Amino acid sequence: MLNNTIYNKLASISDIFFKLHIQKSLNYFNRLQYEDQKKIRQIQADNLNDICRHCMEHIPYYQQKVKTQNPSVTDIPFVDKSILLNTGLSAFMDSSRKIYFTDYTSGSSGIQGKFHSDRAAYSIAVAIQMLWWQWAGYEYGNPLLQLGMTTKRGLKKKLKDIFFHVNYQQAFHIEKDRVVDTLIHLRRKKAHFFMGYASALYEYARIAKEAGIDDIKLKSVVSWGDKMFPHYRRIIEKQFHTEVFDTYGANENTMIAAECEYHNYHIMTPHIYLELLDNQGNEVKPGQIGHVVVTRLDNYLMPLIRYQIGDLAVKADPEKKCPCGRGFPLLEKIIGRDTDIVYTKGGKSLIVHFFTGIFEYVEQIRQFQVIQHSLEDIEIRFIPSENFSDHILESIQQDMYKKANERFPVRFTITDSILPTPSGKPQIVISHLNIKKPECESVS
Ligand SMILES: [Zn+2]
Repeated sequence: MLNNTIYNKLASISDIFFKLHIQKSLNYFNRLQYEDQKKIRQIQADNLNDICRHCMEHIPYYQQKVKTQNPSVTDIPFVDKSILLNTGLSAFMDSSRKIYFTDYTSGSSGIQGKFHSDRAAYSIAVAIQMLWWQWAGYEYGNPLLQLGMTTKRGLKKKLKDIFFHVNYQQAFHIEKDRVVDTLIHLRRKKAHFFMGYASALYEYARIAKEAGIDDIKLKSVVSWGDKMFPHYRRIIEKQFHTEVFDTYGANENTMIAAECEYHNYHIMTPHIYLELLDNQGNEVKPGQIGHVVVTRLDNYLMPLIRYQIGDLAVKADPEKKCPCGRGFPLLEKIIGRDTDIVYTKGGKSLIVHFFTGIFEYVEQIRQFQVIQHSLEDIEIRFIPSENFSDHILESIQQDMYKKANERFPVRFTITDSILPTPSGKPQIVISHLNIKKPECESVS
């Protein structure tokens, strides 16, 4: 295998060839990460000013919506995916810049989204991803099994995969035999990395356990895309004798936070401005859950200010420092989608972990999904395992009442399939309640 210096040189050459600045951005973030918090905050404040000014000068939507001359970020209305769709993307774009990359999304909401980046913005996003992989110990050229949405990689990416020792496999249409083959191959490998969607990594670990493949030792596992539940992490780490490094980004090519070697989530502060807001739009206190509102500070082609991504997270104490010495501030915990919460009549909010924490110990149930039709009607659909017996349902119900300290109406429905979201990711909670969010400005 080629050594690391050569791979870094090749990465720089690839940048020149594709007119990108990935290596330059990566070097920048590598230096910046150990600067003190004050300096990083100052860079963030400058970046925020610059992007707000740019919006007022070049972006039609903000020129029309914001009447203040030099707005601060709180003068600017929230946006979300449906506002983008209803208004039209061109209103959010600087027409003088060229599109290099388009990110297509359809999250759990099922609303199709499209987000454009120019070369500079694309380079920064890729560089931050690489920085996060480095936090997990990865360097260019290390052997890597990667799980993605599609295995259609195109010639350029296929060549890159061969050269950089990447084995690319399907994340959401998992065939057990194929997974077993891939895993058997990993048995003999040393210092191998494994990356992909959290639920797909978990599925691989589950299949390995079922097939009795217990002798794979991975260097580390990096997850993204959907929620890394504690029970996913436990099984992956145990089955593959490794550590999981979770990363958290928005679909819009926005890199929000990732775990360092101490498994604290660091917020990519100079790249984004993150707000965690209550239902009235005020910043929550440390330790509280807030709606994630993110402003990417370096996509000048399509800048989105105060973008509501529909997630919830817990705010960390701003004074809390991580032993790793990085100056990027911390995010206490990522909760998941704001539709992943079940509300009881007694006023309790049961986050998705409430249910996974109970069901992970129930071997008689293979898969489950909670559907909140109303406050009076909470349905749990489940696929039984072979050893299933009815008695377990009573015991689950009692566990839930005990844990919630409330007897709420719940009904169980047996089923033989649970469909994923339109994007292929699993969805544990579906809520048909009207969830209150910080007020979005309506589209005129
Ligand atoms: Zn750290």
